[in-house]
Amino acid sequence: MPLQIHPVLCRAGTMDNYSYIIVDEETLTSAVIDPSEAAPIITKLSQLNLCPQYILNTHHHFDHTDENLTIKEKYGAKIIGNQNDRNRIPGFDIGVLPDTTFSIGQSEAQIIDASAHTQGHILWYFPSSQALFTGDTLFNLCIGGLFEGTPQQMYNVLAKIKRLPDNTLFYPGHEYTLHAAQEAFLYNNGNEEIRKYLSLAEQNLKQGLPAGPFTLEQEKSCNPYLQAKSLEEFKSLF
Ligand code: ZN
Ligand code: FE
Repeated sequence: MPLQIHPVLCRAGTMDNYSYIIVDEETLTSAVIDPSEAAPIITKLSQLNLCPQYILNTHHHFDHTDENLTIKEKYGAKIIGNQNDRNRIPGFDIGVLPDTTFSIGQSEAQIIDASAHTQGHILWYFPSSQALFTGDTLFNLCIGGLFEGTPQQMYNVLAKIKRLPDNTLFYPGHEYTLHAAQEAFLYNNGNEEIRKYLSLAEQNLKQGLPAGPFTLEQEKSCNPYLQAKSLEEFKSLF
């Protein structure tokens, strides 16, 4: 049985982070991914009547970990992150390493190394739910900045993402779709694909929903950073 995924917009109008509440339907085990702002997350958890067992972090930045301790103390949740980031993640409890797995109930996540935005950034990939949580690595139509890594590292990480199944839905750490829309539109010469992508995104945003989720297939045909055919072309996008 798949995961239920509930996006929670945090820091609305400033940083527009997404935290996610995920629930393994088989066991009702639940987790909060990247708790960015306590109030909207706690409201959503009580609407759903959930007490999360875990907090999953993608990377150490404050806008993804600031409410780790609040959620941990309120619910007794254990904080899981990259073992190599144990000293930079507040309230760290359990380390995972890239290329290993960690299960939320019956839902198994593969931990994928995405060192580039930060060293030690990881992706949480749940193959049985076709769900990929990309933190500040991949956003709709753009990517995260290179705070601690090189363009080459990011290029390699994106190549790894592109090899995952086309029908994988990805869940980014920020709502940046409209910021990235114009550049992506121009890069694609306003073709049919990008028009379809943007009209879907706008429809969703108008209803107060996240722009996505989009599949990796859709993203590969519209996101310039995934479309770049060489490292040189990729670098020219920055
Ligand atoms: Zn970040
Ligand atoms: Fe961020």
